[in-house]
Amino acid sequence: MGILRNRLHKTAVKKRNLKDLITSILEEKHYAGVPELMTLLEKQGRSFNKSSVYRSIEKMVEDQQVCRHSFGTDKVYYELRHTDHHHHDHFVCRQCDKIQTFECQLDYSKMPKGYTAEHHHVTIFGLCDVCAKHATP
Ligand SMILES: [Zn+2]
Ligand SMILES: [Zn+2]
Ligand SMILES: [Zn+2]
Ligand SMILES: [Zn+2]
Repeated sequence: MGILRNRLHKTAVKKRNLKDLITSILEEKHYAGVPELMTLLEKQGRSFNKSSVYRSIEKMVEDQQVCRHSFGTDKVYYELRHTDHHHHDHFVCRQCDKIQTFECQLDYSKMPKGYTAEHHHVTIFGLCDVCAKHATP
């Protein structure tokens, strides 16, 4: 019985769909673009063509499971959308491009009258601790 159950479990893992695979990658990596997703999927022995990865992730954006970010670049990155209030925002170092997260401080009670805030992205640019230390005054 134990063996059978184990085998069933393995089959279930193998059959994980693209969306589940993307979700677990983003849980681990915080954010990734389509090229990174492709590489990581291949590492797991799962190859998909670029357009199905792209279609899948864009569907997740549409379904509000994933957010699109550019972090001030011309690239597109995806991140799981956090719906709880432990939401974080991003600090991007303009020198080394490191992305650090910080706890969100934005207060929706300050919205204009009659407006309903649903969602936001804040990206703050500056120097990280390491770069700030090496910056010439
Ligand atoms: Zn993030
Ligand atoms: Zn978002
Ligand atoms: Zn830096
Ligand atoms: Zn925020």
